[in-house]
Amino acid sequence: MWRNSDSERTAPARPLSTDAEAALRRRLAGTVLTPSDDGYDSARQVWNGLVNRYPSAIVRCRGVTDVVAAVDLAREDDLPVGVRGGGHHVAGNGVVDDGVVIDLSPMDDVRVDPEARRARVGPGARLGDLLRETQAFGLAAPTGTSADVGVAGSTLGGGVGWLRRKHGLGIDALRSADVVTAGGECLTASESRNEDLFWALRGGGWTVGVVTSFEFELYPVGPDVATVTVFYDDVADALRAYREWAGGAPDEATSMAFCTAAPDDAVPESARGEPAVGIAACYAGPVEEGERALRPLRDIGDPLADYSEVTTFRDLHDLGNAYPHGRRYYWKSHLLNDLTDECVEAIRSHAAEAPSSRSSVTVWHLGGAMGRVPTSATAFAGRDAAYMVSVEASWDDPTANAANLSWARDAWSDLGRFSTGGMYVNFAGLGEEGEDIVRAGTGPNYERLREVKARYDPENRFRVGQSVGGDGESE
Ligand SMILES: Cc1cc2nc3c(=O)[nH]c(=O)nc-3n(C[C@H](O)[C@H](O)[C@H](O)COP(=O)(O)OP(=O)(O)OC[C@H]3O[C@@H](n4cnc5c(N)ncnc54)[C@H](O)[C@@H]3O)c2cc1C
Repeated sequence: MWRNSDSERTAPARPLSTDAEAALRRRLAGTVLTPSDDGYDSARQVWNGLVNRYPSAIVRCRGVTDVVAAVDLAREDDLPVGVRGGGHHVAGNGVVDDGVVIDLSPMDDVRVDPEARRARVGPGARLGDLLRETQAFGLAAPTGTSADVGVAGSTLGGGVGWLRRKHGLGIDALRSADVVTAGGECLTASESRNEDLFWALRGGGWTVGVVTSFEFELYPVGPDVATVTVFYDDVADALRAYREWAGGAPDEATSMAFCTAAPDDAVPESARGEPAVGIAACYAGPVEEGERALRPLRDIGDPLADYSEVTTFRDLHDLGNAYPHGRRYYWKSHLLNDLTDECVEAIRSHAAEAPSSRSSVTVWHLGGAMGRVPTSATAFAGRDAAYMVSVEASWDDPTANAANLSWARDAWSDLGRFSTGGMYVNFAGLGEEGEDIVRAGTGPNYERLREVKARYDPENRFRVGQSVGGDGESE
């Protein structure tokens, strides 16, 4: 069973043998941090402050050869592996107790070929790195909405970004990937090479190997885009109006509605901190056309606050700055076929009961291009869902862990009434006993993923947190 870390462990990690550590250090161009090294404690931290794990070694890889060395060490000494891209998975799956962390953060190079509209992206790149380089040419890859998040983890789970309805998911723009397998073999996966591996990478990528390079197709967008961010106090009414608008929205319009506490500069003052819904939207097309298409979202009633503006596509991704490193998080999702009135009411009432004003229950409008890709084309499932709902508990006070976790778990559990049974693996909570997150994320593709995994990782080396064919583990 995979154990999460909302209890504090203080015991040191099981050390590597002296010989293994010396051999590893000789092979690396990058660095290795063990518990006795300066910097070990900060290097083992990930974005979610709930996660507190003690790896035996953190290998900071500078290139593919370093990744192979780290994978070899794990295989030869039978150690669990945590692969870290941006370190933002809510369950902290990029770090592992008593095992090897393959930290890819130094490999953050992004190279754009504007003529071919392709980008080569290192596995340590953040979405902000990718946006900076691609937007210099007026291009973008459709993966994720938040600049601080890793391109790697975000894409390998799916990659639900601001272009999902116009250009699909991050995985839909992936054209090839270089992979180090559990056996230490270096392969390229694409539609014409190692096709089964390429299929598995797109939605089940963290289970089959370590990706050392991504190749994305890019699409023209921005630099300026029309966006909406508007808050209302009548949550149920605004959610219903949002649903009506979303039902007829063009593919260029991608949006979400987050039920949370009204912002500090809400008008009137009495509304501040009270239950509200924020609607955020982006239009991937001409600005004036976008302003017209998104206008109804600003006219639902009297807004508490309206921050809608024309902004750069790049700046739009700073939304993630609202979720700093080290805060405590428990985020978990369901896929929905519909946003019924009953579901709207459940979302409203759960959000209103959140113990932390930083928390939200968020509705993501899906469909469009991501929904037109056949379910069997990639390991990612749930493409036919109309919405995703995510319960996002975020809090600072460590003494409030129990209250916040229990709110999030109860809300998620109750919203299961409306679920297709599908879940987005990148919003998967911390893992509950007996839960099979990979099955929920890959649905009808699960058995094929198992078969592909058995070929490329027969010993189940890549199993932390979200395993295929059984519980993952952290130690
Ligand atoms: C503030 C915030 C906003 C978010 N917004 C969105 C959003 O809009 N859309 C969306 O889709 N998701 C979103 N997410 C979820 C995000 O996609 C996941 O948290 C994702 O796992 C983060 O990837 P990472 O590389 O930063 O994380 P990590 O924890 O480093 O990695 C995540 C998983 O991928 C594996 N992995 C990482 N790199 C590799 C690699 N190179 N090869 C093989 N496996 C690897 C890890 O082992 C781990 O299992 C958001 C998360 C946060 C924190």
